[in-house]
Amino acid sequence: MANIGVIGMAVMGKNLALNLESRGYEVAIYNRTHSVTEEVLRENEGLNLVGSESIEKFVGLLERPRKIIIMVKAGNPVDMTIESLIPYLDKGDIIIDGGNSFFRDSERRYRSLKEKGLNFVGLGVSGGETGARFGPALMPGCDKEVYQEIKPYLESIAARAEDGLACSAWLGTGGAGHYVKMVHNGIEYADMEQIAETYFLLKNLGGISNLDQADLFDQWNKGELSSYLIEITSNILKEADDTAKSGQLLDYIEDISLQKGTGKWTNLEAVELGVDSSVLAAGLNARVMSMLKDERIKASHVFSRPQPNLGGMEIEELKDVARQALLATKIIAYAQGFALYKAAGAAYGWDLEYDVIAQIFRAGCIIRSSLLNPMMEAFKNNKDLENLMLDPYFTGLLEENIQGLRDFVTLAVQNAIPVPAMAAALSYFDTYICENGSANMIQAQRDYFGSHTYRRVDIEGSFHHEWE
Ligand code: NDP
Repeated sequence: MANIGVIGMAVMGKNLALNLESRGYEVAIYNRTHSVTEEVLRENEGLNLVGSESIEKFVGLLERPRKIIIMVKAGNPVDMTIESLIPYLDKGDIIIDGGNSFFRDSERRYRSLKEKGLNFVGLGVSGGETGARFGPALMPGCDKEVYQEIKPYLESIAARAEDGLACSAWLGTGGAGHYVKMVHNGIEYADMEQIAETYFLLKNLGGISNLDQADLFDQWNKGELSSYLIEITSNILKEADDTAKSGQLLDYIEDISLQKGTGKWTNLEAVELGVDSSVLAAGLNARVMSMLKDERIKASHVFSRPQPNLGGMEIEELKDVARQALLATKIIAYAQGFALYKAAGAAYGWDLEYDVIAQIFRAGCIIRSSLLNPMMEAFKNNKDLENLMLDPYFTGLLEENIQGLRDFVTLAVQNAIPVPAMAAALSYFDTYICENGSANMIQAQRDYFGSHTYRRVDIEGSFHHEWE
């Protein structure tokens, strides 16, 4: 009998099934359109895969308690798939949704399946096609006992960090895993945007060619900035173009970026929980603005721009300022992501362990980066850390690099180069370190027009003033 089943034979499901098979498991596969299942079986003849045309037969192929991973399009298709499975399942069987599902959907599915005696796991999966095939980062949310049942499977297919720890760990009940994945994607948007801003300024203000930037990113990838996204950026910058036969492919790619929704959910959640996610939101809004291509073309002919001016900065200095800006922004984006985890843990009753989240992110996932090791240590050393920026190691890094971020944003602003993520990071930092801010004015205005009252710094209590 098959040890585990996978439903959905598109990119992710197929590769997860192959990954499981390569770890010694017999895997049953099913896809709504049967020809896809047949193709996967044909392509992988000789492997320990079994397929079936009907969901009933698919369920019948599985040993008990059944473990079924669903990797279909997020949203209604997941509900439809679960509904089609229910008549054939027995109490104690485990349904694992590995898609990018909204965490509230996972909470709902977890509760409604529990009422039927079935177990549900909301499994965040990161790493794309290659990750799914050779080692993704896995973020399961479920009952703890259920995790014990699926742990051997998840740990065998997950990526492993340099210290050998698997990038999979129980995160909490119900929607906890998908929540962690959602915020992972919010951080991913920010990470990608800040790299894009760096490339754009170095190109348009510094006049640094793609190939020289590729070397620079490669060099950065050997230091504190070392990460998957920096590594692929270097590769992207040097990729030749087969069609135009000159320059690099990057120059021929339209500047309109798409999205699938997880970045939007992250920021909606941050608003809902009252957490400042400005850097993550900048990553999202940059994609939104990129869609306004026609308007941007029109506006570019309406308004004038300043002449590019490096203000006497040497190119080598500019490169180092960019490195510092990237490093500081990255820390601040993560600080916002972890602040969101903290608020969510309190709001939804999950005991999220931030060091474990950092541990899982260290390999396999898109935002894997060498900075996750000290992040893991930071939260291990202090479970009550208010903000990542207050961990001594990260405080030190920010002290060293924040001036670079300041210089980078100043240059960008003076030259009309959009750097929304970098600017948001700097504003967040400056707001965070501001002992006495400007909110006294807001409170005065609120009291002026709405009698909303205010508190005083010198006398206890709540006050209203009869403004002139
Ligand atoms: P897609 O999101 O493109 O979904 C295609 C699969 O969903 C096909 O197997 C399709 O079956 C099935 N499907 C669609 N609608 C239904 C339905 N109503 N009932 C049953 N099955 C349906 O596949 P991916 O492999 O890209 O992603 C799977 C999940 O993993 C998604 O939630 C995605 O967001 C998530 N994910 C994707 C990553 C990636 O890099 N692609 C990374 C991490 C997570 P059929 O062949 O019959 O149309």
